[in-house]
Amino acid sequence: MLPSRQKHTPSCQSISYINTSPLTVLSASKSYIHSYTPSTVTVYLDTRNNVSSAGHGNPAIADAVHQQMLLQNSNSRYLHSSFNELKEQIAARLGGADDDGRGPWKIILTNAGSESNDVALRIARAHLQHKRSCKTFTTYTYSMSYHGHSTSCLSVSPYKLRKLGHHDSSLYCPPDTQVVWLPTPCPSSTPSPSTAFDAAYTPSPSTLMFECGMSVAGVVLPPASYLSSAVSKIRSDGGLAIYDEVQSCCYRTGEFTCFQTMGYPSPDIVTLGKPLGNGFPLSACCVRADVLESFENEGLEYFNTFGGNAAACAAGLATLSELDRLRPVSDTTGALLLGLLRDLHNKHPRMICDVRGRGMFLGVEFLNVRAPSDPSPEGTLELSFVASRLKDFHHVLTTIDGAKDSVMVIKPPLCFSPQDAAYFADCLDKAITECLRDVDENGAMGVLGCGATST
Ligand code: PMP
Repeated sequence: MLPSRQKHTPSCQSISYINTSPLTVLSASKSYIHSYTPSTVTVYLDTRNNVSSAGHGNPAIADAVHQQMLLQNSNSRYLHSSFNELKEQIAARLGGADDDGRGPWKIILTNAGSESNDVALRIARAHLQHKRSCKTFTTYTYSMSYHGHSTSCLSVSPYKLRKLGHHDSSLYCPPDTQVVWLPTPCPSSTPSPSTAFDAAYTPSPSTLMFECGMSVAGVVLPPASYLSSAVSKIRSDGGLAIYDEVQSCCYRTGEFTCFQTMGYPSPDIVTLGKPLGNGFPLSACCVRADVLESFENEGLEYFNTFGGNAAACAAGLATLSELDRLRPVSDTTGALLLGLLRDLHNKHPRMICDVRGRGMFLGVEFLNVRAPSDPSPEGTLELSFVASRLKDFHHVLTTIDGAKDSVMVIKPPLCFSPQDAAYFADCLDKAITECLRDVDENGAMGVLGCGATST
């Protein structure tokens, strides 16, 4: 399977578990992924797939798409009711827009988070140019944030750009991007050479691009006070706040969006993605009406061939309906799992230095056991070992991320049951114990290189 993939696939498109044994997935159901070899079927517990938030193979969503494809699947230049209905449903969940004089949320439906963030940046630029007479367009973005794979999104995605080889990702961002770091208590978020927002900010209309619920940064959720002060600073100079909720939307952290869960100020633009279609390509760029005006008046039509087609809207409506049902899981099973992970933190202080997150968006930060004071990326070997053991011996799929690849990021489908949570915590306990035994007996570890990052 692997050689035939390599034949026509660029090597920069990576595979999870490449160093041990990549999975061949032929089916999946709820929180489980079924992997096939010619002789066996293995069922894995999935703790990492926030896209299939309403569960793998969700029959209600599959059926809604199937029925719509049979009926018709025209683009958004023809009228179809689900196009309006989906926007009503999204706007109702974002809340608060109709009564504050800024008009309703205007929503552009796209196929991917990158497309939504790309058009969000264009809208912000048009607003700053036409309403604020800007000639330069500074965008503040956070070190370790990721906003997508298009040229404009990459230019504000230090998480990806740092892979070009220099510790200071700001060197790779274009001059109008200012990389700032986030003051958080997370051990892994030691600032790179970029400066804090307060120090970097120069009063002029600009854009704050903020990934709510930073996932690839290793589950970083700054306090509301931080966002309130950053957003009011940006707004007081006529600038805009864009929140990227592509990862964190759809009840992952409890409320519909992470900004609602965390009590951050409501943004000017918010993008939604990944879970919105439960795997069907669907994303949304939601904009306050007063901010959209300049973009609307520029005279350039926004047409997106597949964006908001009837099947995508059917997927979105069915997904929201399923997620409304599953929403309490974020609070209940999320709290249960957080408690179990905190117990593991207490039990294994040599291995775990922090457990954090909200709802079903949790992070476990690992230490470098062999050299606890060594902050080098080598500290990730233990986590890599644990993740490999979890997959190969306990059949649990996990994600590793964070600035030093030292955080296990947990964001399972929301149908994750209390039994799934207990099973996962038990397996994690065993894998950590096995890892510590290996370190103590051998001084080194046998299995390396899980490499299962999540973007
Ligand atoms: N923003 C965030 C926060 C993301 O995590 C991602 C994808 N991982 C994107 C944007 C880009 O989304 P897509 O891959 O759908 O273009």
